[in-house]
Amino acid sequence: MNEKIIDGKMVSLKVEEELCQKISKLKDKLTLVVISVGDDPASKVYVRQKEKKAIKIGYNFLNLHYDKISETSLIREIKKLNKNAEITGIIVQLPLPSYLDKNKVLNTISPLKDVDGLTDSNLIKLVKKEETLVPCTPKGVMTLLDYYKIPFQGKRVVVVGRSELVGLPLFHLLLNKNATVTLCHSKTEDLKSYTKNADILIVAVGRKDLITPDMIKDNCIIIDVGINRVDNKLYGDVANECMEKASLMTPVPGGVGPMTVISLMENVYLAYEHSKCQNKG
Ligand code: NAD
Repeated sequence: MNEKIIDGKMVSLKVEEELCQKISKLKDKLTLVVISVGDDPASKVYVRQKEKKAIKIGYNFLNLHYDKISETSLIREIKKLNKNAEITGIIVQLPLPSYLDKNKVLNTISPLKDVDGLTDSNLIKLVKKEETLVPCTPKGVMTLLDYYKIPFQGKRVVVVGRSELVGLPLFHLLLNKNATVTLCHSKTEDLKSYTKNADILIVAVGRKDLITPDMIKDNCIIIDVGINRVDNKLYGDVANECMEKASLMTPVPGGVGPMTVISLMENVYLAYEHSKCQNKG
């Protein structure tokens, strides 16, 4: 076994075990709904992964798939799900076809059922350090860092990629943990001057080999979020050779990917807990 590997698969199974214990004590059966539109092949794979895990854990799973649907009808369907007490969590699988207004659609989801944590209301709560449903990939990355007891305070953390799905929420989550965080993106000049100084480097861009060994510091910790499919094989954004220089690094596949799926499952449970508190209050 490679001691430098941050093993997302193993950590995700530990999280799953704990979650299953909590779920086994519930009288209610929780339900996750995934709404998908169009025929994006990667989305189909991701929906199937979520379905497999949800069923394994003991949730009901419903995939509402539309080859094509108008924005008005889609919004109407989401509003119906919001009102349905049987539904615990709702996600809209991204990307949506370009004729649909992503922000409008996502913000129709009730923040209490927004298990992807992508509504404006939940993102604002995250920025303000309030308890909320956190986007799944950033949540998974934070769980991994916690599991490996990687300290943030006083550390230089560089996040590459500023999407609302990954980089931006990660920036805030790390800042909330007292890391000194730099957020780099496509308009950053001289990326290497930032990555070279990072104690912890987190890369979420979607470009194979964006980060090469000359761009990193000795003994840094690398979290590679990127997924790039080349000739039917998966690669991250960080060249494999970086593993030699790093002290710890996530592999692709088997790093952040399994953490994203299990974090979604955790969010479904949290959404259930929050809804119970609301009903009591
Ligand atoms: P995105 O396209 O929305 O965002 C990419 C970000 O990278 C942007 O902020 C952009 O500014 C930045 N960027 C682009 N080129 C750059 C460059 N040359 N230098 C520095 N920054 C650059 O993508 P996303 O949804 O954030 O996903 C990023 C990657 O992570 C993709 O490969 C995606 O497949 C992967 N991903 C993996 C998981 C997982 O579970 N492992 C989950 C979500 C996304």
